[in-house]
Order: sequence, then structure tokens, then C-alpha cells
Amino acid sequence: MILDLEVETRSWEEQLALDDASYREQLRYLLERSAFYRAKLAAEGIGSAADAGGLAEIARLPLTEKQEVKATATRENPFGSHLCADPSELVRIYSTSGTTGTPTFVPLTARDLDDWVTGSARSYAASGIALGQRIVSTYTAGPFVAGAALASFERIGLCHVPVGVGQSERLLAAVDLLRPEAVVLTPSYAAHLVDWAAERGFDLAGASVERVLVAGEPGGGEPAFRAVLEAGWGARVTEAMGIGDIGISLWGECEERDGMHLGARGFVHPELIDPDTGGALPLADGAEGELVLTHLRHQAAPLLRFRTRDHVAVRMTPCPCGRTGPRVRCLGRTDDMLIVRGVNLFPSAVRDVVSGFAPRVSGHVRLRPRQPGVTQEPPLPVVVELARGAAADEALAEAIRERLRSVLVVQTRVELVPFGSLTRSEYKSELVEYDAT
Ligand SMILES: [Zn+2]
Repeated sequence: MILDLEVETRSWEEQLALDDASYREQLRYLLERSAFYRAKLAAEGIGSAADAGGLAEIARLPLTEKQEVKATATRENPFGSHLCADPSELVRIYSTSGTTGTPTFVPLTARDLDDWVTGSARSYAASGIALGQRIVSTYTAGPFVAGAALASFERIGLCHVPVGVGQSERLLAAVDLLRPEAVVLTPSYAAHLVDWAAERGFDLAGASVERVLVAGEPGGGEPAFRAVLEAGWGARVTEAMGIGDIGISLWGECEERDGMHLGARGFVHPELIDPDTGGALPLADGAEGELVLTHLRHQAAPLLRFRTRDHVAVRMTPCPCGRTGPRVRCLGRTDDMLIVRGVNLFPSAVRDVVSGFAPRVSGHVRLRPRQPGVTQEPPLPVVVELARGAAADEALAEAIRERLRSVLVVQTRVELVPFGSLTRSEYKSELVEYDAT
């Protein structure tokens, strides 16, 4: 289902022309209202929106790092000096799940919130779920931005059944008795539930769920891992992706499952950069790099050229679904990346390679680096969990090691452990566990 047919199928050139006008207006707004961006752009010799030009010149402007925005937050202004709206205009304040100290607050005006829900509804509707169907959600309406995605289900016209985080018993009861067509959860939790249901003799693959919508962490678009989830659920898996500071579920896969479409088109402008140099890369078919996003009509705290830390691969070929514009597949996050003898390695890519050995493995893996930090000396220890009832087998360990070497160009030491040895996550998985010994 294409929710906004006219918007989602307009040519990308036409979209860029519309976005150019929005962007110029957003720059005027920022320079008028944001002390943060006035100072940041002045340092680059840009004193007016006219100096900055249009979208075609956006790469001349500086990138925005999450940390520099956060650094301007004070007790008097907990949002930071890029806040543009009057506090009385704010209708929602989320906080992001920061690992240290005070959370980062994400303020929204009524229009910001509406744009978030509109973009998210387009992204989730792309999966093929349709008006009148039931969807079981596992997100909460808690402090985190993911809660805002819940409103998009009503927008699509779905019947929404919230069960909350970590409620596996309640979730399976809802699947069993309410017979929903869809569930939405993290890929880690989707994997966990496959095992959990099997242990309780619940036939998940035979249940009513036709679509599993995954979001919240990378991995749901990786072919082998996705195949494991699809077999376990007897359902089609599509992924969606957003970033708290910019918007929820900005991107969503359609039924072709060949990268996520930009549901937030018109609200957000995507760019690609080289993560090492910060230099702009063309948004071309097959290109890989870090995703950079710019708000086009945000009011509360708009961000300009924000570094998402998401590494993506770009698809620009026409999609049979009729939606236009770039599609992306997330390869991993910079924050999770390890560098093994000069080679960048995303833990979710290791999981995907290992998942290719299903049904002999469970699909659960853990990387156990021996030194602290990002840079690692080979061989990198990788713990691979066997499938239920499978016995350790040296030839299998060797085959996995060899496949990791040939696909990811990384030397590993593969240790096979019995089914159930690795802890499961009901939210997001930690695929990397630093060896404390
Ligand atoms: Zn499509």
C-alpha cells in the first residue's frame, strides 16, 4: 500500500526541487532563531541564508556532530542552544537512551510530531500491512522516541495491540488469540521469540503473523539473518530505520525488500559522506558511506547535516513498487564497529555470515575482543551458538571461520557453544562482549 501516492511516487528530481525551497526557508529560520547554528555558520563565513545557497551546495556547510549539540545544553537550557521554538510551542519532549549522565532531550512542536508520524506511517505502510489488519507492538510509550511510532499505526488504519517490552508470554497469547497479521519489534527480540516459542511448543511459523516489521537496530535487512527470522515466524520480514535526533522510522522497506525507502521525504534530506574524511559522496547506486541527514521543515530543534553514524549501502535503481528516490540498507553503526588489522568490521555482518550456516547454528553470536577499544589484533574470538540438539563439530567451526575470512576478510577464532549458552535480548542485542579476563 502506498499511503501518500502523489508524494511517494513523484520523481526524485521534482522532490529535490521542492526540498530546495524548504531547505532555503529552513536555513533562514535557523539563522534567525538558533544561536548554535548562527555561530557555527559564521565560523565558516556564512552570515545569511543567501551565502549558503541551496541544496545543491549543501556539502559546503559544516557537519553537525551529536556531541557538539549536546555540549551546549545547560541547566537553564537543557535542550541546548540549537533550540529554535518558544518553549510554549513544544508539545512533546522525548529523551534519548544516552549511556552516560543526563539524557539528551528531543523537543517537538505539534507540526514536528505530525511530520514524524506521517513519515513513519509511510515507512511502515511500505511493508504491505494494510487498513483493517492487526499489529502487535512491543515498544512502549515511554521516554524514548520509538513511542512516537505507535501513532503511525492508527494513521495507517491498523488495529494496534500494544503488549510492551519484555512481555513474551503476553505477546504469544496475543498472537494466539487475536490472530494479528503483523508484529513490530527489534530483530534481536524477533530471533529470541523464535526460540522461546519453540521451547514452549508454540507453532510460531504456523500462526497468523504474515509480516514481521523490525526496527531499532541494524541486522533486519541482512539476507541470511533475515532468512532465519522468516523461517522461524513463517512470515515476511521488512525493516525500518530512524534516528532519535532526526525522526522515527524515517526509512522503511517495501515488499521488494531491496533497501528502505525514505518515508520522511519532504521532511528530511539525505546525504552520504566518507566517514573517515567527512567528504561528500554522490548518492549513487551501489555507493556506501555514512548517512547524513538535514531537517527541511523542522521547528523545535532542526539539525543541519547531522552525522547519524549509520553506515549504509545505497540503491538508486527504480523499485517495482513505484516509490521513487534513494533506498538504503544499514550495514552497521560506527559505534559498534571494530577494526581488525585495518579492516572495518560490523558485528551484525558477522551474525549474518554465521546465520548462513542455519539450521546447524541458532543464529546467536557474540564477538569477544581480547583488548579494549575499537582496534583489534587477529584472530578475533567469535562465539557461535549451535542449533538445539546439535553437537560441537570441528569441521563446522572451521567452515564458519573460513567463510568469515572470505566474506569479511577477517581472521577469527570460532568457538562453538551449546544451544542456549548465549543470553537473549528482549530489546537490542549486544553482539560485542569485551573479554574481562
Ligand atoms: Zn519499493
